[in-house]
Amino acid sequence: MYHYVHDRDPLAQPGCGGAVSKLRALRIADFRAQLDLLSSRMEPIDWPWFYAWMSGRANVPQRCFLLTFDDGLADHAAHVLPILEERGLRGVFFVPTSVLTTHRMLAAHRIHLLLSGLGEPAFTEALRSALRNRCAGQWCKWLDHDEDSDAAMMYHYEPASLGRLKCLLNMKLPADLRDAVLDELFEQRIGSSARWARHWYLTWDDVAHMQALGHTIGGHGHLHEPYSRFSESEVRADVAQAAMILREGLGPDCRPFSFPYGSFTDSACDACRRAGFVHAFTTRRRFAETPDSPLRLPRCDTIDVGILLEEKVACPHP
Ligand SMILES: [Zn+2]
Repeated sequence: MYHYVHDRDPLAQPGCGGAVSKLRALRIADFRAQLDLLSSRMEPIDWPWFYAWMSGRANVPQRCFLLTFDDGLADHAAHVLPILEERGLRGVFFVPTSVLTTHRMLAAHRIHLLLSGLGEPAFTEALRSALRNRCAGQWCKWLDHDEDSDAAMMYHYEPASLGRLKCLLNMKLPADLRDAVLDELFEQRIGSSARWARHWYLTWDDVAHMQALGHTIGGHGHLHEPYSRFSESEVRADVAQAAMILREGLGPDCRPFSFPYGSFTDSACDACRRAGFVHAFTTRRRFAETPDSPLRLPRCDTIDVGILLEEKVACPHP
């Protein structure tokens, strides 16, 4: 599972103050090196082959990998696609459909850019003050709560204070309050969300081109919100909207889905099945096996490729 793959400093643009970016992106040379490493130890497969294997219609090599890219980032057309093409590899690109239909930065990416541009302490202080100004200062307690087990579990790979900040923004604050606060801070400190969105995300032309080249375009929700915070009917509506937009824009192919933030519930899995998605990927970190439910498939993040290859995660094909 990959997200950002780029070398550029996204804040070093005219009008954006040229701040030094601390955005955690995989550098292009590191992406190439990781593909070299994976290819030296395992065989690449594409999603149609994976689907055939999961459905009992084909075998796969004993050790193999499937490349997936989340969030519909422009990086994927600009940097990933040419590298996959030169190597004859086929990837799965999971695109939140709102990035194709609106010119708005997703909350996740506004948070990344605010963190990158301001640094964690200044962003946290700006958030506290924006919440207090909206008479919502009671939410600040989650920034100070040492025992926030949700934050520790979801963001185990982050320092505790950063985990609490991300958990508050992504999981706890009501979405309309979070969006109002993030809109205000983003416009003040980073720039126009609409202008950023135009170069941050894939376009319809990009995804149509990728699909025509044999890559798979999958669903990643419409609004890109964690489903654990949605009601059942909201989950169903979000998944159905994503399915409809992909069907209308790219044709009625069967497609996989990946849960935004890896967050899923039984009703989210059911919503994917009803909407016609044949696979749904989580972020549970291990190798896939054929007995896995096709709607709860595990995945490993690029940052875990080292331990994956050292077989410190469960491997069904020793
Ligand atoms: Zn995502």
